[in-house]
Amino acid sequence: MKSLLPLLLLCITASHGFPAGLQTKEQDAKIIQKYLEKFYDLKIDEVKNPKNKNSNPVTEKLKEMQEFFGLKVTGKPDAETLKIMKMPRCGVPDVFSFAITEGNPKWDKNNLTYSIENYTPDLAREDVDDAFRKAFKVWSDVSPLTFTKISKGEADIKISFNYRDHYDNSPFDGPNGILAHAFQPGPGIGGDAHFDEEERWTKDHKNYNLYHVAAHEFGHSLGLAHSSDIGALMYPTYGFNDLDNIQLSQDDIDGIQAIYGPSNNPVQPTGSTTPKACDKKLTFDAITTVRGEKIFFKDRFYLRKTPYIPEAEVNLISLFWPNLPGGIEAAHEVTEKDIVRFFKDSKFWVALGTNVLPGYPKDIYTTFGFPKTVKKIDASVSEEYTGKTYFFVGNNYWRYDERRRSMDAGYPKLIIDDFPGIGSKIDAVVNDSGFFYFFIGTRQYKFDLQAKRVVAILKSNSWFNCGDY
Ligand SMILES: [Zn+2]
Ligand SMILES: [Zn+2]
Repeated sequence: MKSLLPLLLLCITASHGFPAGLQTKEQDAKIIQKYLEKFYDLKIDEVKNPKNKNSNPVTEKLKEMQEFFGLKVTGKPDAETLKIMKMPRCGVPDVFSFAITEGNPKWDKNNLTYSIENYTPDLAREDVDDAFRKAFKVWSDVSPLTFTKISKGEADIKISFNYRDHYDNSPFDGPNGILAHAFQPGPGIGGDAHFDEEERWTKDHKNYNLYHVAAHEFGHSLGLAHSSDIGALMYPTYGFNDLDNIQLSQDDIDGIQAIYGPSNNPVQPTGSTTPKACDKKLTFDAITTVRGEKIFFKDRFYLRKTPYIPEAEVNLISLFWPNLPGGIEAAHEVTEKDIVRFFKDSKFWVALGTNVLPGYPKDIYTTFGFPKTVKKIDASVSEEYTGKTYFFVGNNYWRYDERRRSMDAGYPKLIIDDFPGIGSKIDAVVNDSGFFYFFIGTRQYKFDLQAKRVVAILKSNSWFNCGDY
């Protein structure tokens, strides 16, 4: 069975370039120690002379890190832990060193100024200006803060691109690794944001999008720390969200409003909430198999069962498929073509593994022959043996022949006639060993295709280890 996991692991080994074995272990041990020193306040003296003979400071800090990232807390550097440590991220630590600054630093005014001290050659000047303006807007939209760009006098937030050691005790590390850092509110260097000039800065979904990294850094400039919520902009690793319009999570909004109070907008802005695998109210937008695994879609997120995470891995769709939008409404895998199709409104995308193929999105009318009355697909599933793909839309369903590449005659038909017991308005459907599993709200109907009847009704999150509840 092919699985999605080797794809991820492949990325790591490829970027790493060492053969497995001792050398990798030594290299990994260095990565782990450096990471914990930089981001978890691991003291190298304590590693050499532990205060307590019964506890290893590296193990303790590893546990802290694993807890922060929602991993299995083992104190051991497993594959998932290393994977996160090798991800590009922000240079600000995940734990605050209270020895330096106590309390919650904040600006004591709401109208702030910023200046752009120098420009990156990677982008046109106006694109850099635009990225920073939009990044500040992310925060001014949800708080009483305003930001004005000035070119004379000393700004509150000074923005610059820097190489390696730039004399603030936090040298940059060349391409990848640490992308940027920013200082908490205060005079002088306080609030300033520095970007590693050795990164390639972009205005699209290629690494690294300046608008995205800047919006995160400005969160620090305003006094926010890192969040362990994977959907939050303040999560420490680089994640791509929405090209033109970053969506904050409720966690980010709660954070900034806790410091500066609510927005002056008459309607208070709200953010997205990261799904939790064992939430009793969890519903899904779409589900598909991908090379032997099931991937569940919800808003900007996917959920997936892995051995490393107790319940399910929850992550941004954009991490796997950077050019897919959030809010996928239907998805299915055509195993014999090794492709996955994703649907949203009247558009669809095709991916081969994690690569969305060029030329997409396309519309569902020309490719599949849907009538214009169909505005969106509720759910879809493909059957490997028959080569038939089913599309569920309201009370109806269509059947498409993958081999002939056309819709079968006589469709649409009523769902109720051929799938009795299912009802209409299906959220998602996925196949597994000769059964279709239909998801409607928090319920799941296991449908036997041979017997043509529902054989079990389950909770929607029965695929995750949620135990009895
Ligand atoms: Zn950060
Ligand atoms: Zn710096």
